[in-house]
Amino acid sequence: MHARYSTSISNWLETILFERFGHRFTLSQDNGLIHLSLTGSPLTIRILSDSSTFFQSNSDLPLSRWDGNAEGWRMALAQPLPAPGVAKLPVPLIEKDAAGYTIGYDIIGLTYWMLSRQEEVGRTDLDQHGRFPAESSHAYLHNYLHRPVVDEWLHVLGQVIRRLWPGLKLAALDFSVRVSHDVDETNRYGRSSLKGLLRMMLHDVVKRHQVRNAMKAPLIWYQSVEGPHADDPDNTFDWIMDVSERYGLVSAFYFICGRTDAARDARYDPEDPAIRQLMRRIHARGHEIGLHPSFNTYQSPKAVVSEAMRLKRICREESIEQSAWGGRMHYLRWSTPTTLYGWEQAGMTYDSSLCYASSPGFRCGTCFEYPAFDPVQGEVLNVRIRPLIAMEVTVIAPHLMNMGTGQAALKKFMQLRNACRAVGGCFTLLWHNTQFDSPKKRALYTSVLTGITEPDACAPTTNIITATL
Ligand SMILES: [Zn+2]
Repeated sequence: MHARYSTSISNWLETILFERFGHRFTLSQDNGLIHLSLTGSPLTIRILSDSSTFFQSNSDLPLSRWDGNAEGWRMALAQPLPAPGVAKLPVPLIEKDAAGYTIGYDIIGLTYWMLSRQEEVGRTDLDQHGRFPAESSHAYLHNYLHRPVVDEWLHVLGQVIRRLWPGLKLAALDFSVRVSHDVDETNRYGRSSLKGLLRMMLHDVVKRHQVRNAMKAPLIWYQSVEGPHADDPDNTFDWIMDVSERYGLVSAFYFICGRTDAARDARYDPEDPAIRQLMRRIHARGHEIGLHPSFNTYQSPKAVVSEAMRLKRICREESIEQSAWGGRMHYLRWSTPTTLYGWEQAGMTYDSSLCYASSPGFRCGTCFEYPAFDPVQGEVLNVRIRPLIAMEVTVIAPHLMNMGTGQAALKKFMQLRNACRAVGGCFTLLWHNTQFDSPKKRALYTSVLTGITEPDACAPTTNIITATL
């Protein structure tokens, strides 16, 4: 059985192709084939269509792999290339004939399935925070979560397009890095009760082995009445901006503007004079401010809208104007498509939540930003998805991948960064302002950002480090 794409789905997929290749191709369907054509040309690329498979909201799809080199195609990454949804592929996979080319794998269906997150709709195998976990996903189960499979297949499709229409100049794809920081807290020791301070000091000594920080804590706590203290280990904003400016990057800081879970949301209020001042400083230095919707908002679009309005009102009052507003869900909590509705109704430009908390990589199969699609209503949305590729805690933290801050962690980050580079995409990294509390973390961060892995080559200068230590 071959399900047909609605006009909305076809239009959306045509937009994805346009953004990737820089040309408008038309997609049409008949008899189990998708025809990719170009106005003015009688030739077409026919793609075997398996859309019934790619309308499924489960992860029980089969998997095959393709050795593209053997057929004379360039592969963006290591071989073989995973082909979700089929148990067996035709040989050869790509054939030329008088009408153009035939591709025996549904690249378009895979693109729909991965980017719309159809796989996650209505799932009940969720983790303790209500999230669809990496461990339930097809990509994790078949060991390709570390590969941007959609981008890799589109890389192949791009080659077929070039061979069929050699005069057509396709868009150049340039690798880029984006860095963002969820502001769960602005300071570790201020804003807490005396009991909270003592608990934090104990935590520093026992769990983090940071005796020096713990010893400084009482003075910082005492002096923090006016806002984040310069010596507080979580007050790393200027250091972060210094590093980003050094490497020509813009840092995006996402603020929590609501309290729906007293224990998990921020202790600060965005209206605090100290937070306002911080936002003004971020803006004045050319960095970005965004929203980090609070813990219990992922199933409540209304709550996301109200928190977005709160952030925008504060920014208006501080004369902070931005052409784009985005952010990320706290704890990466996400429910497809409900969470999208909040971002959409709030009129936000983009969301950058889609990554699994327990395993980094390509949850959407791509590292390219794209317009969101609602797989339940079958509609294109205005908000854009900016897939997150890695959150630092996932790789570093003992309760997650436990790779620490040494070579193993660096290797993991670089594997993902290099995969983005190979497809000319964007490596989007989340690094919390609260996770720069050791020189090793700072060195790891700069290595991951710059791709320069020799420790001295990109280490920030001493005066930057001491500015906030
Ligand atoms: Zn958070």
